[in-house]
Amino acid sequence: MSSILEVADLGHRFTDKPVLDGVSFSLEEGQIGCLLGPSGCGKTTVLRLIAGFDAPRAGDIRLAGERVSSPGWALPPEARRIGMVFQDYALFPHLSIARNVAFGLRHLHAEARASRVEAMLRTVGLAGRAEAYPHELSGGQQQRVALARALAPGPRLLLLDEPFSNLDVELREKLALEVRDILKHEGITALLVTHDQHEAFAMADVIGVMHQGRIQQWDTPYNLYHQPVNRFVADFVGQGVLLPGEVINNRQVEIELGVLDGYIPTDCDDDGGCSRCELGCQVEVLIRPDDIIHDDASLLLAEVERKAFRGADFLYTLRLPGGQRVLAQVDSHHNHAIGERIGIRLGVDHVVAFRK
Ligand code: ATP
Repeated sequence: MSSILEVADLGHRFTDKPVLDGVSFSLEEGQIGCLLGPSGCGKTTVLRLIAGFDAPRAGDIRLAGERVSSPGWALPPEARRIGMVFQDYALFPHLSIARNVAFGLRHLHAEARASRVEAMLRTVGLAGRAEAYPHELSGGQQQRVALARALAPGPRLLLLDEPFSNLDVELREKLALEVRDILKHEGITALLVTHDQHEAFAMADVIGVMHQGRIQQWDTPYNLYHQPVNRFVADFVGQGVLLPGEVINNRQVEIELGVLDGYIPTDCDDDGGCSRCELGCQVEVLIRPDDIIHDDASLLLAEVERKAFRGADFLYTLRLPGGQRVLAQVDSHHNHAIGERIGIRLGVDHVVAFRK
């Protein structure tokens, strides 16, 4: 496999305000990447630099091995063979769906253009709507037209900027999965930016969590959830609480709920192998809602303080005997009342601990 996109040590600032610092990542052919982060973290700026709307202050960008941006210089967007899908669809309201999709195909003969448009509309599941106008379609359908239009000229890379933000929450994840299937089927390399982790998880093979202009962790969705490298990632991705703990040795941490076994991938091994573990480092241990298992047979009881019904499960906020709180994801058949004490036990696979 070869890299389609290589972003190396990208830095940018607006007037005197630094917005990107040392951003590096790459995408292999056919891979779907995502930049995920809160508003203002710099993800749209990265996307704009890749599209060529602006030149970076530092670092460079390569597309299929060709340098397209370096400090103070940017190959124009139209010369990059990049497709873009925006949050607001950006369709031409006065053109039919077919003519919208044909927009980037003016270099083709009429027959080739018509057959490409037809193939693209089939790909996005809108074959029968070629003569409709954008206002006659739902938001999700309009976004699929925008996708067909972006894919029609055969881009080397597809950029998607918050593509599902205008849609209902229920539709977002469904469309994200559909778009993923289309991109995978067509072998398209793509980069999505979003602040919505459900969208990111539904679509991407690999995600870079951004904060204050830096990528905090570039990893698979699974690793971001189960092995976050710092508190920001732990907090931003998924739910959970940090409980105080003490490192007993370099394979065990003790928290109020018991002793957790396993390799301790903490940021407390700065000095190589955490020589101080034996001395009982004070740490905070990440406990996710799925790490707490409801078990009637357990002697460890916790009080239900809050509950949120989520269909298939409840998210309980439980108060431990020592006063700490944890979240627990429990099958919705177990409908317990506020104030009730229920048995729980730990089911932790990976210990994630941060130095206090
Ligand atoms: P959002 O999700 O809100 O779009 P983002 O993570 O995409 O946020 P950016 O749009 O990349 O963030 O912006 C990063 C920072 O750069 C923000 O503080 C923003 O105010 C600033 N910024 C972005 N564009 C400009 C500009 N043209 N001039 C000055 N500052 C800008």
